[in-house]
Amino acid sequence: MKKLIIAIDGPSGVGKSTLSKILSHELGYLNLDTGAMYRTVALAATRRGIDAGDYAALQALCDEIVIGFARKDGTEHVFLNGDDVSSAIRTPEISLLTAAVAACPDVREAMVARQRELGAGGGVVLEGRDIGTVVFPDADVKFFLKASAEVRGQRRFLELRAKGVDVDLARTIAEVEARDSADTNRTTSPLRKADDAVVIDTTELDIPQVLERMFAVVADHRGRAQQE
Ligand code: C5P
Repeated sequence: MKKLIIAIDGPSGVGKSTLSKILSHELGYLNLDTGAMYRTVALAATRRGIDAGDYAALQALCDEIVIGFARKDGTEHVFLNGDDVSSAIRTPEISLLTAAVAACPDVREAMVARQRELGAGGGVVLEGRDIGTVVFPDADVKFFLKASAEVRGQRRFLELRAKGVDVDLARTIAEVEARDSADTNRTTSPLRKADDAVVIDTTELDIPQVLERMFAVVADHRGRAQQE
């Protein structure tokens, strides 16, 4: 069976990471969390004292750092030059800084090149903001997930609280909105639905319900591909 490229795009807190992990696992595909790549660049910039507006320094940084992924004890880990940064990249401060760093065209160029390299052979689920529009405009299946900012903020709040991060609900919703605005309004590769993406509004759906729809879309794609 042909190994597909599946794109999942949408704003933060919409369920992309959870869904992408389950979908890729069930299909036996690679899961590529592209947000984690941008987050790792932001963390590396902080550690080096590089300002998010210093595009030349960010470009040099991207040439230099090695971002790696590995599964450990059933969970996915992200590495910066061999150092496990899976938790360090998830703080609210790094989330906000990431949206600024991800607006840098040189950073995007470097990350997109790496994502294409990793996904080119197919058998991959990529989740991000620009997968169906820029990274793989010819992806076999494209999803665009959306949900209200309140619900997304609430989900992010519960997620962070479960990890023991001390957060405030109103502030988390405000941060989700600030990040949406930065991601939607940037000049290079803004967050936008691809014309041929399947839209799923997850506001009132739980994970199993969204998954059911996603698997139905994948099955439908395969059925049509077999007939061609
Ligand atoms: O998906 P996640 O919330 O981890 O993404 C963190 C940030 O990385 C986003 O707010 C966005 O600024 C950036 N990002 C991006 N393009 C992607 C994935 C993430 O610009 N493909």
